[in-house]
Amino acid sequence: MTERSLVSVAERVFNFSPGPAVLPLEVLERARDELLALPGVGISVLEISHRSPAFDRILEETLGDLRSLLGIGPDHEVVFLQGGASLQFSMVPMNLLRGRTQAADYVVTGTWGATAIKEARREGRVHVAWDGGTTNYDRLPAAGEIALSADPAYVHVTSNETIQGVQWKHDPDLGPAPLVCDCSSDFLSRPIDVAKYGLIYACAQKNAGVAGVTTVIIRKDLLDRSRDDLPTMLDYRTHVKNGSRPNTPPVFAVYVLGLVCRWIRDSVGGLAAMDRHNRGKAKLLYDVLDASGGFYAGHARPDCRSDMNVTFRLPDEATEKEFVKGASARGLIDLKGHRSVGGIRASIYNAMPMAGVEALRDYMLEFQQARRA
Ligand SMILES: *Cc1c(COP(=O)(O)O)cnc(C)c1O
Repeated sequence: MTERSLVSVAERVFNFSPGPAVLPLEVLERARDELLALPGVGISVLEISHRSPAFDRILEETLGDLRSLLGIGPDHEVVFLQGGASLQFSMVPMNLLRGRTQAADYVVTGTWGATAIKEARREGRVHVAWDGGTTNYDRLPAAGEIALSADPAYVHVTSNETIQGVQWKHDPDLGPAPLVCDCSSDFLSRPIDVAKYGLIYACAQKNAGVAGVTTVIIRKDLLDRSRDDLPTMLDYRTHVKNGSRPNTPPVFAVYVLGLVCRWIRDSVGGLAAMDRHNRGKAKLLYDVLDASGGFYAGHARPDCRSDMNVTFRLPDEATEKEFVKGASARGLIDLKGHRSVGGIRASIYNAMPMAGVEALRDYMLEFQQARRA
């Protein structure tokens, strides 16, 4: 650490990684500017106590901004947890299913839902209400295809399947049981009607910040379901009672989540504007797929394709490799698809600027053109 390196914005490339993912430049600049000392505090956010007035303020502002952005009402609590979305695969059934005779119903539209249900099986009875695995998760269930159990403890969905690029276009309407949603990869990308959900969980490192913090929004009446024999830290009530601070929370990750909320509110203009922006970006790429005569073959069916993760195949694996390599050389990085789908995945979360998507579109058009010639 002897030489000082000053990296300029010009060195940044377009990052299509599925997560941890691109952050808004304004957020990075703000974090950089405040890294040595928070204004009025004199020390870094990396150094402050989680019990300090400075962090009180950060936590309060972040919660307030989340509540106003998402329109979260008084029936729901919001807490910040650790362990990623993956720990919620376990905590949800531990708190809402353990010891009950009912089944928990899972609508499985991709890899993450399939991972969630595995953990639920350890806690109690599970019912597969629908599973799209037979067509490698390329679609959502059609109306009437979902078979719920008689009286489910809850119904679990994944709003956006990050690996397959399959996204629910509206808040699912799945009966009176509490709806539990893994919103990890489209959280804060669009408005949702929180009142329709019993529990929402989302890690931050896709749309909402850096790894380390997972937001859980839980309807207050569901807190009564947790049993007293749960490990203290795995009981939602512990985190609600202690205002997300039963122990040391991920201070920096909460701080960045707060910056992202403020960016969405002040620079983007709220979640409806964020959604318009995201849809516009996705349309640019899907239009290329649709006009490519099958050269770029989308994985997800058109009525459920994701505005966050655009997944597609090229004619063969060698061409896909070449595509990824050529993109990289142009500063369009991390486009390789997940091994379970193959092909290409362009993750174009909130912070991916239109210019990045335009650059990818231009590259796709040129790449196909060159193959024809
Ligand atoms: C990334 C992701 C997860 C896993 O998140 P971790 O924080 O790594 O545990 C779960 N579900 C979805 C939909 C995701 O996109």
